[in-house]
Amino acid sequence: MSAFVGKYADELIKTAKYIATPGKGILAADESTGTIGKRLASISVENIESNRQALRELLFTSPSALSFLSGVILFEETLYQKTTDGKPFVDVLHDNNVVPGIKVDKGTVELAGTDGETTTQGLDGLATRCQQYYKAGARFAKWRAVLKIGPNEPSELSIQQNAQGLARYAIICQENGLVPIVEPEVLTDGSHDIKKCAAVTEAVLAAVYKALNDHHVLLEGTLLKPNMVTPGSDSAKVAPEVIAEYTLTALRRTVPPAVPGIVFLSGGQSEEEATLNLNAMNKLDVLTPWTLSFSFGRALQQSTLKIWSGKAENVEKAQAAFLVRCKANSEATLGKYGGTDAAAATDLSSQSLYEKGYKY
Ligand code: 13P
Repeated sequence: MSAFVGKYADELIKTAKYIATPGKGILAADESTGTIGKRLASISVENIESNRQALRELLFTSPSALSFLSGVILFEETLYQKTTDGKPFVDVLHDNNVVPGIKVDKGTVELAGTDGETTTQGLDGLATRCQQYYKAGARFAKWRAVLKIGPNEPSELSIQQNAQGLARYAIICQENGLVPIVEPEVLTDGSHDIKKCAAVTEAVLAAVYKALNDHHVLLEGTLLKPNMVTPGSDSAKVAPEVIAEYTLTALRRTVPPAVPGIVFLSGGQSEEEATLNLNAMNKLDVLTPWTLSFSFGRALQQSTLKIWSGKAENVEKAQAAFLVRCKANSEATLGKYGGTDAAAATDLSSQSLYEKGYKY
């Protein structure tokens, strides 16, 4: 038994298991101030605190939507914000059985001597920040590592640096009571086929789990947030069943059964595409020891954002759109999503949300 068993071990295991409850998933609403600014700009809304608060309040107070969520990832500013009635967001989530989480990485920097490969920053002072976030009510954390596919990428340097960074982050979180979501995102940018994405995803995940093990991370108290295995953004699309097959093959070969849940990022897929792919995975007839769920950012918020457009009179309609996506993805975690009915469907849900070299 090489895993670290600190004072939080039982709580970490319980929290991770709860977040991985079948039928529930995570809303990633932890866009940094810069990233949320891009979203707000797309609806011509100014990037000021009151507008960021209004968007998050709309999401966190959507009637019924929270019943399909087990966690929400927040950005530091949001962790301390309140509803207009003065109730802390953390309490709103908690009262609805949704665990508040916190993005703790500080973005990426380029690895010198590589063709635009990156490593993620944020380890300095991380233990202290985790303690503050725990006090404020957070019980899990997120750290996004980014890898890219190219003629010579990902390099061994980037695979190792990102695996080590994720492992060091994970153990610091666990020492301070936060369940680490381990997120090694292989970007879709490129013209590669799905086989290439599968090979890279497998190599990356194998390195990540070796590093987590070397750092004595308690896997039962973690969650994995991977990319789905897909063809590159400049290649022809394939059916959800194909994506499901390749993704589960890569995961089954690399992710230990001790991990309670795998919560996918949406990575620029349209809302509908992401839901259909998740549904196909949960329908596939293979043995999977972990829950397969979602931790979507763009694919949970896009139609809601557009319908809202920063106007108070649109809040109700926007919340209805958010509920549609939460419910659809909840069904997809059970392999029971039958498509969105015509009345609820919007053109918005099939729009591609791809951005080249995505920064969060
Ligand atoms: P997307 O689902 O928009 O890819 O983002 C999820 C996320 O949290 C990225 O770190």
